[in-house]
Amino acid sequence: MTLLTIPIVAKTLQSAFSQITYASQCAGDCIELRLDLFDEPISPEDVTHLVTTAKQSSLAVIVTCRPIWEGGRYDGCEENRFLLLQSGANGGADYIDIELIALENDGEIFLPLLDHPNIDVIVSNHNFDTLPDDFEARLSRMDKYRGVIRKLAYMPADITESFSALDSLYQAQQSGQPQIAMAMGESGLISRLLAKKLSAKVAFASLTVQQASALGQVDVVRMDALYLWSKQNKDTLIYGVIGAPIGHSMSPAIHNGAFLETNFNGLYIPLLVAPTQAVFDQFMDNIVARPWLGMRGFSVTIPHKQHALDYIISHGGHVEPLAKRIAAVNTIIIDDKGVLSAFNTDYSGSLDAICEVMSIVRSDFKGLPVAIMGAGGVARALVAGLVDNGAKVTICNRTIATAQQLAASFDCAYGDMDAIYDIDAKLIINCTSLGMHPNTDNTSVSSDYFKKDMAVFDTVYNPQETRFLREAKAAGCKTIDGVSMFVNQAADQFKMFTGLDAPKTIMRKVVEANL
Ligand code: NAP
Repeated sequence: MTLLTIPIVAKTLQSAFSQITYASQCAGDCIELRLDLFDEPISPEDVTHLVTTAKQSSLAVIVTCRPIWEGGRYDGCEENRFLLLQSGANGGADYIDIELIALENDGEIFLPLLDHPNIDVIVSNHNFDTLPDDFEARLSRMDKYRGVIRKLAYMPADITESFSALDSLYQAQQSGQPQIAMAMGESGLISRLLAKKLSAKVAFASLTVQQASALGQVDVVRMDALYLWSKQNKDTLIYGVIGAPIGHSMSPAIHNGAFLETNFNGLYIPLLVAPTQAVFDQFMDNIVARPWLGMRGFSVTIPHKQHALDYIISHGGHVEPLAKRIAAVNTIIIDDKGVLSAFNTDYSGSLDAICEVMSIVRSDFKGLPVAIMGAGGVARALVAGLVDNGAKVTICNRTIATAQQLAASFDCAYGDMDAIYDIDAKLIINCTSLGMHPNTDNTSVSSDYFKKDMAVFDTVYNPQETRFLREAKAAGCKTIDGVSMFVNQAADQFKMFTGLDAPKTIMRKVVEANL
């Protein structure tokens, strides 16, 4: 069992007691008493009192007193540190954390704790700047102390260095050895979120967002509500969104909400992959080489949509033909034999949203006059999908050369932003960022252009009702919002990930709640 552990990071005893009470009401199984973080030195009696209070709430207890030289705040003598840890052990703590260096340098002081009858010792090593070159050797040094739980934490340079933590957890899971391994920071988040699947002895989650004891720690509420901690097990299949930046992404909330709703044993995580083809390729190579991770699919977002396309092509995977023409992939599927395939659900999600509101099917796009405002990535997906279905598309863009380029790829008309006023379009789509939060007064078309026989679609989803849509609605047009596109593209991914129909109502609610 992996203990979901909440660090108690109080500066006063009073605050520590209230944190323990709050922790006992959360999803965690264990607390870590950080004795080094108090503003005033505490006594061995205080430690015993804290431990017994936590034990009354049925929480397991780890007692830690991290010295300054290992990234903590304790700056007293080692003999006193031993007394504090010992009083935790005598008070009924389940685990005592002792640094590998302390055991190696001051064994005569700390070794007696290894023989304490009622506690297990965590031998730890922390590296706040890098992944140590001698990662394996450090773990082997811990093995000199029989029966201990090994703990190694480090800061990865990027996500590819997080695989060292995952590998060591997997090896420990295979051999049955209790271990904690984590990569810190946002790039290391994968190691925290997969800790339970890989049977780590402990995973840490902060009591609140502000009370993290290390970089990258997720708060305990999100660990369970967003990352489905209670539902995870060894068989959980893993999905994620690859991007940079990725912290703002709503995709984990949408997909995990859908997994929960359909009772599908999956977990969807954010994956911060640095913005180069080289790091993207290394990341994918690492995933493909580790089928035991149970990674079955990814959403791909800025700036990796083209990188994903190139990777899948160069690795002999299947790419949906229209995704090739769009030159962007937003979905990767890895089947149970490790075969890769890639798709673009941006265009399919948008076409479905349009069809729903216009009460048409895709073949009805044939000959339909469509004006597309913008010529960026989203415009490209929509132009491709519409032209593929026979629509008569005109691209209107601020930078005319970009419009011309896009038009040449899909053999359609183009012009500047004002060109729209010369077109009798029945479907008008805003693919510019005009009107997006915070510049919500902006719009791409004058309100007197709208007529009630038009359908009007804004791909901008924040705010949900843009000025563009508000004015179109006032003119009696049918309107389609960006949230519909966003939900539909995620719903198409969900279907590909799971084989199940997506619970779109729930997915839409999650997006609206997040907005
Ligand atoms: P992009 O590649 O950067 O393209 C931006 C487009 O907006 C370009 O055509 C650009 O014209 C135009 N533009 C930007 N500022 C402008 C201004 N002040 N006046 C006129 N035109 C301007 O972005 P993208 O990835 O295509 O995304 C476009 C929008 O789609 C985003 O803002 C976002 O709100 C929305 N989106 C929606 C979803 C969804 O699921 N609903 C998903 C992704 C994106 P130039 O060529 O002249 O620069």
